Amino acid sequence: MINLEELNPEQRTAVTTDERYVLVLAGAGSGKTKVLTTRMAWLIEQGIASPGGILAVTFTNKAAKEMLSRLSLQLPINTRAMWVGTFHGLCNRMLRSHYHDARLPQSFQIMDMQDQLSSIKRVLKLFNIDTEKYPPKEIQSFINNAKEKGARPSDLAPVDPMEAQSIELYHLYQQQCDKEGVVDFPELLLRCYELLRDHPAIREHYQRRFKHILIDEFQDTNNLQYKWLRILAGEQNCIFAVGDDDQSIYSFRGANVGNMEEFARQYAQGNIIRLEQNYRSYNHILHSANALIAENKDRLGKNLWTDRGHGEPLRVNELSTDREEAQWILEEAKSLINEGVDRKEIAVLYRSNAQSRAIEHAFFSAGIPYRVYGGLRFFERQEVKHVLAYLRLINNLDDDNSFLRVVNFPARGIGARTLENLTDAAQKIGCSLALAIGALNGASATKLAQFVGMIMTLKETAKVLTLPDLIQQVIHDTGIETFYQNEREGEERLENLQELVNAAQTFCIEESFESSSALEKVTIAANDDQAFPEQLSALDMFLSYASLEAGDNQAKYGEDAVQLMTVHAAKGLEFKVVFVAGLEEGLFPHENSLKTHGGLEEERRLMYVAITRAKERLYLSGAHERMLYGRSAYTTRSQFLEQIPDEHMKWLCPKTRSYSYSQANRVDTDAWQSAPTTTRKNPFQKGTSNLSSMGSGVQVKDQLFKVGSNVRHAKFGDGVIINLIGQGIEAQALIMFKGVGVKTLALGVAKLEVI
Ligand code: ATP
Ligand code: MG
Repeated sequence: MINLEELNPEQRTAVTTDERYVLVLAGAGSGKTKVLTTRMAWLIEQGIASPGGILAVTFTNKAAKEMLSRLSLQLPINTRAMWVGTFHGLCNRMLRSHYHDARLPQSFQIMDMQDQLSSIKRVLKLFNIDTEKYPPKEIQSFINNAKEKGARPSDLAPVDPMEAQSIELYHLYQQQCDKEGVVDFPELLLRCYELLRDHPAIREHYQRRFKHILIDEFQDTNNLQYKWLRILAGEQNCIFAVGDDDQSIYSFRGANVGNMEEFARQYAQGNIIRLEQNYRSYNHILHSANALIAENKDRLGKNLWTDRGHGEPLRVNELSTDREEAQWILEEAKSLINEGVDRKEIAVLYRSNAQSRAIEHAFFSAGIPYRVYGGLRFFERQEVKHVLAYLRLINNLDDDNSFLRVVNFPARGIGARTLENLTDAAQKIGCSLALAIGALNGASATKLAQFVGMIMTLKETAKVLTLPDLIQQVIHDTGIETFYQNEREGEERLENLQELVNAAQTFCIEESFESSSALEKVTIAANDDQAFPEQLSALDMFLSYASLEAGDNQAKYGEDAVQLMTVHAAKGLEFKVVFVAGLEEGLFPHENSLKTHGGLEEERRLMYVAITRAKERLYLSGAHERMLYGRSAYTTRSQFLEQIPDEHMKWLCPKTRSYSYSQANRVDTDAWQSAPTTTRKNPFQKGTSNLSSMGSGVQVKDQLFKVGSNVRHAKFGDGVIINLIGQGIEAQALIMFKGVGVKTLALGVAKLEVI
């Protein structure tokens, strides 16, 4: 039962409105997210919408999870059928159901930004493009900007030869992605938008279904996301958007606060609800935030007040070095924990990822559990990415990025020359790398065949093993386990891999895949959505999850830990105690921002976001001398510290800054690297392999077939044996036929000739 009593009148109006278009425009901590969640529950409870008839866009996967768990506490409903997620997550879900109409393979893979960059580098190399003139990173942002505006290469008109070349590269890159069946992040959205735009039946289906569309953090949507929402809403459906222009912090990624203004003007006119009471923070914190943001010229303007009382003034400290700053944060955090504050109620926020290392080092050395969101992402660690690449290949052999990542990892004697030849052959035939191996000869062809054979064997295995068992098998059979066992710092990597198995285990339990094999497709459909059920396997879902939730899942599950994250990642969250570190000119505000129009105002909004995360206590700090990017440099105080009224601050050091340089304060670079070493047990002692039959020869009808043998078949033409399963007359061969693909043939039946 939903209790509307605890809401204030404006919040209640927002929750129960029957207007088609509504914009809740309100400052931090005023209950926008609460209103949005309560409205979802209210719509369901009142029978105005079914759980499957609601689509809600949140900012992070974490927020989506939290929303669903709150809903299931309030109402006895099956939240699995509900479409609540990030733009990327929701588009991914839609594309999985309509992969065919979206011109994608069923098991299409999602590339993260790093994979995308290596893909672009490959295209540049293949076409002999000068990377000095066309730096891969610039091409990457050219492509992503174009996609975020909804533009395909053919929609773009070049203004000069340079741009014409960039457009051509976009075209070539896209061709490559399509061939491999992979999509980058902006492609998820663009492809989904085009799917709805070009397929009336699908569009109308979803328009009929999602009568209520709700969006959190509306100020940070980009143009394409806005178009996607509009097309889904069509002429009939309701849009309920909540946002805060003072918290628009993603314009560097194409977010456009103008969307919110346009929506307000064109649609929600007269239905703009303002919330002014802040329920999150004490007065000192709130007034500091209000005073700071008032320095910005370009704002819609709003007032926030709270009746929570004054609380404590902000504690401000400047230390000699960034190491001392980190140490001070640690000491303060420790005493808070001793006083009984939960670790997860303490957040340390910073502007740049590079800052996290000093802070991590302090917490790590003191043995205080902490969790880093963003930056050092679990799913971005080398060893985890290697295993994920194997899993991607098992799911889709045509994924060339993954192929290249692991074909010679661990080393199998497959050199750069071989791969160049293979790339050429694939280019000529117009197929993926794996499919082209039949076109090569000699010893290197055998090695490649053995590699593909191993993947095919694992694919067979995946049909009978659960996902965690499959991952364990991959780690063992590919030689990754042995590789890291022999590497100097391999133990920690092996622990991370064990953590990956654990992650898969938890994932399968949460998504009810425990009893299915990794590749078994399960139908996931909302009760009222029989028309387009989704057919997904645990492996499909897990790989999407790994790509999409990279930032959300770094630490051990469920452990109470201090939260470390960038200010960007802290959006929408709240903590009892917040530290904001590195308040120095050039760092926060960041030097890059000073080069762009409106950059400083965006930095100030970011600082506003940082301050307003705190409920009870806020610490602000900086260092006189900082080590960044391998250099140590003197700093000056952030202007933001000057823009907060003194009455709200308590300085823990003399406010006058001393720049005297003492030897004792010098950053000791060696000490940075001397993280304590601990002995860990090998998590993979039990790993076994029982399926590999590679390398064994099979004699059938006087012919000796071996992995790597070139063979001829009357129908499929020439190919190479990539694996043999079973013995004698029963033996089966996996054969990669040139330009045809992999076929499994019974040696006793198929008329094969060794050539
Ligand atoms: P942000 O802009 O940072 O995303 P927000 O506007 O979404 O903030 P919420 O996170 O929804 O704000 O709410 C802030 C806090 O205030 C939450 O802890 C929420 O539970 C609480 N809150 C909101 N409205 C009320 C209310 N009417 N009574 C009591 N607590 C409330
Ligand atoms: Mg919110």
